[in-house]
Amino acid sequence: MAADDQDMEPTLADIHAARDLLRDHLPPTPMWSYPLLDRAAGATVLVKHENTQPVGAFKVRGGVTLLAGMSDIERERGTVTWSTGNHAQSLAYASHVFGAACTVVMPAGTPGTKARAVEGWGAQAIRHGDSLEAAERHAREHAERSGARLISPGDTPELLAGVGTVYLEIVEARPDLDAIVVPVGSGTGAASACLVAGCPVIAVQSAASPAAHDSWRAGELVTRPNGTAAAGLATGRGFALPQRIMRDRLADFLLVGDDEITHARRLLATTAHTLAEGAGAAALAGVLSRPDLFNGKRVAIVCTGGNADADELATLRRG
Ligand SMILES: *Cc1c(COP(=O)(O)O)cnc(C)c1O
Repeated sequence: MAADDQDMEPTLADIHAARDLLRDHLPPTPMWSYPLLDRAAGATVLVKHENTQPVGAFKVRGGVTLLAGMSDIERERGTVTWSTGNHAQSLAYASHVFGAACTVVMPAGTPGTKARAVEGWGAQAIRHGDSLEAAERHAREHAERSGARLISPGDTPELLAGVGTVYLEIVEARPDLDAIVVPVGSGTGAASACLVAGCPVIAVQSAASPAAHDSWRAGELVTRPNGTAAAGLATGRGFALPQRIMRDRLADFLLVGDDEITHARRLLATTAHTLAEGAGAAALAGVLSRPDLFNGKRVAIVCTGGNADADELATLRRG
């Protein structure tokens, strides 16, 4: 079944259904604008605060939607996935809420804090291999051996349906937006935004990990070096399902430098009372990088997450 997941595109109706499922589990997140941030950006910037989610990132909407829709038998067999960060925590959290088994394969070099965060929700963290690709292979083998359902972080329709609820909240709160700017790793967030939004959706990735950007530009799935410090944007390949959805619907795809992301994190900290991880500030970095696109406009940016570890927090200090 997992092999065919990527062929099933979620619909707007699936995203509405996900919101009904989530209503009992996750309250809507706040969205605010801040005068000093608007002044710095030369635009009206609405910050959607997904950093306030229980695991500190929007991905929990996908995990809870997936687990809520599983049968008792499926939950008993459990899930297995691969991830270094927020996807892992999302699935671990949702599995905790629904009493399901969950295994996450992380590359061996993943910081201990990330493995402990997963274990804190009662999931099993396996550290294996020297890359995400190696962790993915190990997760596939584990699924075949154990009967657990393999969950691709990018190609699972239920995850897209769940994260799409962010964009229902945004467009219902502010139907008057000129654009929504979304940071991209695998592309589930930006793809689901395309399914919901009536205004242009603009994606942002780090130039140090441009696989999703380059896949979209090329019109085919490509692999690329994966060197960004922003874990949520770090992927070495394009994912089929979100790329197919973004293909004709995404208005533009921007690349920013990791230094621009750090600057945006400082600005969120000083003007918006918000500690964002790198990926969570990438949308703002995109807005700041292109005054020609955004000057004078009304834009929503998704602060996708706040899981900055001690090393990442230390980079907020001016060098
Ligand atoms: C996963 C993640 C992203 C990227 O989302 P995709 O749906 O994988 O494109 C952005 N920000 C944060 C904080 C994330 O955890």
